[in-house]
Amino acid sequence: MPRMIADNIKSVTQRIAKCCEKTGRPAGSVQLVCVTKEASVSQMLEAARAGIKIFGENRVQDAARKHAAIGNRAEWHLIGHLQTNKARDAVGIFSLIHSVDSVRLADAIDKEAGRIGKRQDILVQVNISGEKSKFGIPPESAAGVLKEIVACPNISIRGLMTIAPEADDPEEVRPYFAGLRQILEKVNVELGTNYSMLSMGMSNDFEVAVEEGATLVRIGRAIFR
Ligand SMILES: *Cc1c(COP(=O)(O)O)cnc(C)c1O
Repeated sequence: MPRMIADNIKSVTQRIAKCCEKTGRPAGSVQLVCVTKEASVSQMLEAARAGIKIFGENRVQDAARKHAAIGNRAEWHLIGHLQTNKARDAVGIFSLIHSVDSVRLADAIDKEAGRIGKRQDILVQVNISGEKSKFGIPPESAAGVLKEIVACPNISIRGLMTIAPEADDPEEVRPYFAGLRQILEKVNVELGTNYSMLSMGMSNDFEVAVEEGATLVRIGRAIFR
């Protein structure tokens, strides 16, 4: 039973490597974020022993509890929605916040990062499918929002994140991943920046996401199911 997590990680890692090879990307150009929102502390330790370097959590409170037990054996990324009143705790734990979806939230993060002398890495979440149920800024606002966040002295923008719609066939969501990559390219041209991170792809669709340029994939069920 305990070997299952290690075996799953190995299999996911191999599938990522294969996609990189297929599309001519360097091996190691994709980071695996192990999504642990449904994992116990002991499962997380198992994952770390199997080589996981990044835990992805959805909620600051869950992460704080687990972080107290595990510490910085791996990096911690926040992948779920963040409320401004949790910015202080988030800045204390996470090396990368994937889910910044407003200038107001960026300002709160900036303030808290400044307070502890940290420069906080972030991604801006884009709601590329336009689904009402999803957080994220509309694609057409990306350049404008990033331009405002650039003014935050204690934040480093690293790129963009999106969550694709649910689909039976991952090919259906390929255009959303390609779309996020195009938005990043457009923003870089418009702002004269060099942002490079694309957080996209989950258990059901990460191979398509890697083919479309993902640099971070967020995978839970394929590891812990
Ligand atoms: C839960 C979650 C994931 C992982 O999804 P799986 O289908 O378990 O791989 C990735 N990203 C976000 C934002 C999530 O909430």
